[in-house]
Amino acid sequence: VRLRRSLESVHKVVVVGAGFGGLKAANVLGSSGVEVTLVDRHNYKTFQPLLYQIATAGLDPGDVAHTIRRIVREHPSVEVVQGDVESVDLTGCAAVLADGRSLPYDSAILATGATTHYFGVPGAREHAFPLYTLTDAMRLRAHVLSCFERAEADPGLVATGLLRFVLVGGGATGVETAGALAELFDMVMAGDFRRIDTSQAEVVVVEALESLLSAFSPPSRRHALETLHDRGVAVRLGETVSSIAPDHVILRSGDRIETATTIWTAGVQAASLPGRLDVDRTPAGRIVVNPDLSLPGHPEMFVVGDVAAAGGSDGRPLPQLAQPAIQGGRHAARQILRRTRGEPTRPFRYRNFGNMATIGRRAAVADLPFGIRLRGTIAWLAWLFLHLLYLIGFRRRLQVLAAWAWNYVAWDWGPRLVTPVEREDD
Ligand SMILES: Cc1cc2nc3c(=O)[nH]c(=O)nc-3n(C[C@H](O)[C@H](O)[C@H](O)COP(=O)(O)OP(=O)(O)OC[C@H]3O[C@@H](n4cnc5c(N)ncnc54)[C@H](O)[C@@H]3O)c2cc1C
Repeated sequence: VRLRRSLESVHKVVVVGAGFGGLKAANVLGSSGVEVTLVDRHNYKTFQPLLYQIATAGLDPGDVAHTIRRIVREHPSVEVVQGDVESVDLTGCAAVLADGRSLPYDSAILATGATTHYFGVPGAREHAFPLYTLTDAMRLRAHVLSCFERAEADPGLVATGLLRFVLVGGGATGVETAGALAELFDMVMAGDFRRIDTSQAEVVVVEALESLLSAFSPPSRRHALETLHDRGVAVRLGETVSSIAPDHVILRSGDRIETATTIWTAGVQAASLPGRLDVDRTPAGRIVVNPDLSLPGHPEMFVVGDVAAAGGSDGRPLPQLAQPAIQGGRHAARQILRRTRGEPTRPFRYRNFGNMATIGRRAAVADLPFGIRLRGTIAWLAWLFLHLLYLIGFRRRLQVLAAWAWNYVAWDWGPRLVTPVEREDD
């Protein structure tokens, strides 16, 4: 046992990215006393599933982000480095940071996640609001609120589309954001603003497929569509956006929608780092991996989460969701421990716990294992419970629970501060 401990403790592991996958890996390795360097460009970990609640003023940024150093404080062998990894020297086994620092490793785990993909739509990168990072969410919130301030100052601007909000993409993020915006306008802005008729504010979802929530079962898709309709959201199915300008979008059908706000929730691609590595990638930029999640030709390097094209039981790449990242991070860490003990690695098997999306107050859909489908209040309660459970730290759970209870009872949402927020580069 002592020999095993000392072998594990001299083995140096670099984990790039402290998201769902990287943090899980660092925690597993840290629990075994392995020396880990955990690198991330931010000093915090974001809980992306609740980002839309920052954008719609339901929660505070501090409710969904947690400092990485605090998360791994219980593991003395885990060192945290804030820095941007620019490349990885796969032959020399070192991660190279943008400031020139080099982090040598015996094993490494790449978990850099994904970023917004604009599919080359003209004007999208320049004028659309992405919703991928905490900064994106805070920037969008400031913009939405300032649209109302500008409309209050000059109500004539409402006719130019100032209070029309177009969401591109009807997946879970698009649906959740649309439902939350509709509620924000109905319940909160209506009380805050006096000179404008806030019922003129409109939310439009544009979805290329013939249904919303394409990853869900047909009954859940229908329920989401009906609920959004009931809440006044306009949904354009089978339609795509062909260009975006600061004051309008043009659809493939030729329709033009006047809007000062286009929110892009349509697609993700692997983060920029893999593009700089000499590795095989899928068209979406995800790195091709072996069944045990190691990089072909580099058994010391594992790739997990959104950035990896790990195959599911049907052979197709796993969805870019939190669970595949968490399970992948845990698996990679365990394989590194196995290798330090001289044992062969095992293939990764993903366990699918289902899909959930909320559409607003007492409205959600959940497709769970064994064909269990929930919708309405019960699905919403299940959604609230699970999201609380996955938040890191007791204090944060309590904070979010209190905020949700207050929002629900008082019909008065969280911080509606308009503060300047700079755009963050990918
Ligand atoms: C708005 C939104 C809502 C979502 N909702 C859900 C949901 O409800 N349920 C669900 O299951 N999934 C959801 N997802 C998807 C889920 O968040 C991702 O699948 C998950 O975060 C992937 O985990 P990961 O570890 O691969 O990457 P991430 O969690 O994204 O972590 C990647 C980390 O790498 C860091 N990084 C990237 N590049 C570098 C670099 N070059 N140098 C240093 N650090 C770097 C980043 O800062 C980040 O901290 C949502 C995503 C978004 C954007």
